[in-house]
Amino acid sequence: MTRSFYIKTFGCQMNDRDSEIMAQSLGEHDYAETLQVDDADLVILNTCSIRAKAEQKVMSLLGYLRKIKQKKPELKICVAGCVAQQEGKRLVEKMPHVDVVAGTQHIYHIPQLLAEAQRQNGPRVAVELSDSYAIPRFIPDTGPSSPASAPATLQETEFSRFVTIMQGCNNYCTYCVVPYTRGREVSRNLKDIEDEVDVLVKSGVREITLLGQNVNSYGSTNAVTDDGSPCSFPQLLERIAGIDNLQRLRFTTSNPKDLSEELMRCFRDLPSLCPQFHLPVQSGSNAVLKKMNRKYSIEKYKYLVDVLRNYCPEIVLTTDVIVGFPGETEEDFAQTMALLESVRFDGSFSFKYSDRPGTASLALPDKVPEEQKASRLSRFQRRQDEISLERNTMYIGEMHEVMVEKRDTEKYRCRARTNHVVHVRSEEYLEPGQIVDVTITHAGQHSLQAQYGSNPIIS
Ligand code: SF4
Repeated sequence: MTRSFYIKTFGCQMNDRDSEIMAQSLGEHDYAETLQVDDADLVILNTCSIRAKAEQKVMSLLGYLRKIKQKKPELKICVAGCVAQQEGKRLVEKMPHVDVVAGTQHIYHIPQLLAEAQRQNGPRVAVELSDSYAIPRFIPDTGPSSPASAPATLQETEFSRFVTIMQGCNNYCTYCVVPYTRGREVSRNLKDIEDEVDVLVKSGVREITLLGQNVNSYGSTNAVTDDGSPCSFPQLLERIAGIDNLQRLRFTTSNPKDLSEELMRCFRDLPSLCPQFHLPVQSGSNAVLKKMNRKYSIEKYKYLVDVLRNYCPEIVLTTDVIVGFPGETEEDFAQTMALLESVRFDGSFSFKYSDRPGTASLALPDKVPEEQKASRLSRFQRRQDEISLERNTMYIGEMHEVMVEKRDTEKYRCRARTNHVVHVRSEEYLEPGQIVDVTITHAGQHSLQAQYGSNPIIS
């Protein structure tokens, strides 16, 4: 009998992709996805522990699920991902209605873990981390180069997909839980990645985003080819960019300390690689970067930006910033503002520092008071918004290639190669996945507007 499952995903794109893989593996074990939590026989919470807020939401959802389970005792509940990894047994002690706790290296085996929980008539907690962990193949093997070997979860209307190329991280930035929750860095087999992208493209996917915590170090800690020959991230990009009919290639995320010139050159040399780079800086102060254990200086960061813009002048650069890191003074924060003025990021994700369990920064002295963090964050965001608007205004009147994502009332929501969201007016019907050239007519802080067809009205 087919059972239904519902997945709620928290956090980053890595988690989005992990949820797709979980759905695929459940689909192979006679489960079907439902979009209604109340209809599900199995509910999976794929969790994130980077910020306290996401973790609180998981706990409150688990409280809600306890009530559903009281009325429907056959309901199975699984907590997967980073909170599962971090909390382990504590989670089932606090929440005894949870059936499976699947840590980050166990998310691909949910059906087996559920069967084990059933057999042992009690919760199954799987959170062991292994340094020799091998990321499994994600594509069902249904025959050589058969289009039927597309992942079971691929929907007709999905033209943009994530592909995980590595898991874990070896960098130990002092504020970050990832090395503890996702384990040591493991790169995925090159051939598996190529096969997965190839299957996706043959199924109609046009845009691929390669995912990893620090893609720059792909292939540096374990063998990724069957004969043991090395393959760096730029070499992987070159191989993937060479796959027939792949129109757009992106990747995320990169630690600046491992950014090579060879990688920056790819933006000039690989036509399908989109001109967009997310390069997290975190702070403009060398003293703060040192306390964060980021292992680069602001001078080095600015040098990298110059080289990158030299290879690809149209590149759109975004970043992450943490304000109010322990010990951050007004002078340190002024240096972050100065960096924003000199680099003029196209956009940024900025956050107030918050203590996270298990991180080294938890023990650092001189915590910044909440009001100061809030004030610094709002000053940073206000200025970033102004700069984003100034930079976006420069696109007005230009032609840009966009891919249609979906129809939103009167406009089409599309994505440019620069990764801008573009709301497009068109008198002609546009298909999701269609790639068209549009004229940018209006700029906002976070998106652009455009017209497809003749006589654009430019504001
Ligand atoms: S590079 Fe630093 S911030 Fe990024 S995942 Fe690794 S430890 Fe966390």
